[in-house]
Amino acid sequence: MKEIAENVWHIDTLGYVNAYVWRWEEGLTLIDTGLPWQGKHILKAIEGAGFKVGDIREIIITHADFDHYGGLRVIREATGARVYVHAIEAMFFKGRWRRWPNLRHPLGVLYLPLHTLLMLTLFRIPRLNPDLLVVDGEELDNGLSVLHTPGHTPGHIALFGKERGVLFTGDALVNWRGKLSLPPAMFTPQPDILKQSIRKLARLRGVEVAAPGHGSVIREKAGEAIRAFAKKVAPPPKRRPRKAPTREGVPRQPKAKPTSKSG
Ligand SMILES: [Zn+2]
Repeated sequence: MKEIAENVWHIDTLGYVNAYVWRWEEGLTLIDTGLPWQGKHILKAIEGAGFKVGDIREIIITHADFDHYGGLRVIREATGARVYVHAIEAMFFKGRWRRWPNLRHPLGVLYLPLHTLLMLTLFRIPRLNPDLLVVDGEELDNGLSVLHTPGHTPGHIALFGKERGVLFTGDALVNWRGKLSLPPAMFTPQPDILKQSIRKLARLRGVEVAAPGHGSVIREKAGEAIRAFAKKVAPPPKRRPRKAPTREGVPRQPKAKPTSKSG
């Protein structure tokens, strides 16, 4: 584990995906749980940094993709930690919904049979009742606030620790090879909504460190980098010029005639 801010660590040995540890008064909060075979690895990494498994009190899942909830079952069983997900994303964990690829993307359609097979077998979403359903704007006791950032998935969240200046972006944006980028289009069914989410992240003030779901952590001036990225990939939609409102049946008021000055 690598410390990326005071009391915040990056589990940087998972390879493809990231997970993070956030320490506060009650213990540790784990943000995301890696791929399905990485639960034990995450527990070992946390122990290797001098903590006990029982120190993990909370697990927050940014979104229901197998590379983010993969180790959840193992870690929850080992720790008894409370599990938090967004209220919408919780539907996936209750087994009611499946996560589809983007069916408007040509590769998404081609990939559909394989994706369905994997989601029903190897990458099955663990059925569980989350302990807390979080919503946008919620401020958690651990000092993190919840930002609903849909687009990649409907109940995707980012987490912002304002006092420490750390933003966990999940897959709302990723930082492959040190370059901010969008998550893969094939797995992002609502790209326009994702852009709104990216603008939302760019509006935050006081972001020093950005901790993405994939790629490297930005250690300094992350807010500036995110604003520049948002400007490039998600410029605000142009506003249509507003037409002057007309009320039918209501005669326009005649313009007041200029009054002649007297005296
Ligand atoms: Zn991911």
